[in-house]
Amino acid sequence: MTEKLTVKKIIEGYNKKEFSVSEISGKYYKKIEEEDKKYNSFITLNSSFLKESEDSQAKYQANTNNLLEGVPIGVKDNILVKDILCTCASKILSNFVSPYNATVIDRLKSVGVNFIGKTNMDEFAMGSTTENSFYGATKNPVNVDYVPGGSSGGSASCVAAGFVPAALGSDTGGSVRQPASFCGIVGYKPSYGLLSRYGLVAYGSSLDQIGTLTNTCEDAAILVKYMKGVDRNDSTSSNINPLNIDDFKQIDLKNKKIGIIRETIGENTDKRISQLILETTKKFQKYGATVEEVTIPALEYSVSIYYIIAPAEASSNLARYDGIRYGLRTTKKDVDAKTIFTETRKDGFGEEVKKRILIGNFVLSSGYYDAYYKKAQKARILLSEQFRESFAKYDFLITPTSPVLPFKIGEGVNNPLALYVADLCTIPANLSGLPAVSIPVGKVDGLPVGMQIMAKRFDDGLLLGVGEFIQKNITDGDK
Ligand code: GLN
Repeated sequence: MTEKLTVKKIIEGYNKKEFSVSEISGKYYKKIEEEDKKYNSFITLNSSFLKESEDSQAKYQANTNNLLEGVPIGVKDNILVKDILCTCASKILSNFVSPYNATVIDRLKSVGVNFIGKTNMDEFAMGSTTENSFYGATKNPVNVDYVPGGSSGGSASCVAAGFVPAALGSDTGGSVRQPASFCGIVGYKPSYGLLSRYGLVAYGSSLDQIGTLTNTCEDAAILVKYMKGVDRNDSTSSNINPLNIDDFKQIDLKNKKIGIIRETIGENTDKRISQLILETTKKFQKYGATVEEVTIPALEYSVSIYYIIAPAEASSNLARYDGIRYGLRTTKKDVDAKTIFTETRKDGFGEEVKKRILIGNFVLSSGYYDAYYKKAQKARILLSEQFRESFAKYDFLITPTSPVLPFKIGEGVNNPLALYVADLCTIPANLSGLPAVSIPVGKVDGLPVGMQIMAKRFDDGLLLGVGEFIQKNITDGDK
């Protein structure tokens, strides 16, 4: 009954009394308890979830229910939910219980959403496979020999496994979209500033956005509608209200100008993936869109820019885990502060996180700052300019979400550079603050392939509207 239910259908079902909150929540919870051993999607389940669902049910009976009353969702373990552990999949936060809610959590709670649990991830959102977790790797529900992608792998896997209709993730360089692509679901990264980052544990603050993992673009729009908007706790949050979010509808492709970014379907992309993307976009023409290839020359620098800027910001953001204020401290009593810092950080952080802190400090250090960090910032501006020019001509830009198929478990750990390079298609949207969504377009060798659609900043509603149209009429229709 819970298999592939959408948020929309759940709300309709509750309102029509087709099923109750207690029934749906009980089924999901039981399914997780019985089946999540196979995938390891969750780090912590919310022990109050069933009680909260009973309360939601009572509200339906009393006709005092809120708009999303009783919708169960999963939350990545780097988004704070009050009184629940927030580990970021790190040993260093393994005992950290959140004292407050992230803004997006408060907003969803205020419309009645219940949070079923905290999902597995790469430590501090650094990774592409969800293998860099202190709590063990997550597996891909489509095929457990493969990774679910990362770093929001637990959120993607729990939606793909039918444990929840939707989950929240975070996306700094593709961590919502790439796992969605690997697991065959929808992953949406909003425009930078559309959602408050307050209560999202910071990785790369100029790149981080909270995003959604769902089965449809419409569900993404429903969730973002209640999460968006300015927040005085995040000065980068915006009060711009995207068209088509408050009154969501599908948007057809008639007269839409669509560009396929040539640099993402070239020799570094699996030919079968490029072919699937080109076959899909060819069908757009039947619905009245014009489709052509477009070039964004600075795209080739994206991976280098990102792997300088993200670690630089991370090295500063992660300085706060020092064994004094947060989480773990591994030293005995009566040692000096320096020993507390170094020993705790040595024991508490995993290898990938340590590597990035070192890289970040290196690129920011005097003597190297100009050659790396400053140059990366200049290249970032160049890339954003080229996107701006392209969006003067095109409504939407298309790429594969990932240039490669899901990795086998263990494959990426031994080849970190291959993982970094595979972020080519998703990183540019973060560097330029653009909204982007990955939708499933089919399979190669039995493994899901996602197509990424990007739009102008704050055209999020149009993006999801067109995404919904494509999914309903083209990609799902074909299956
Ligand atoms: N794979 C990228 C990284 O390892 C993206 C991570 C993210 O978006 N959080 O940094």
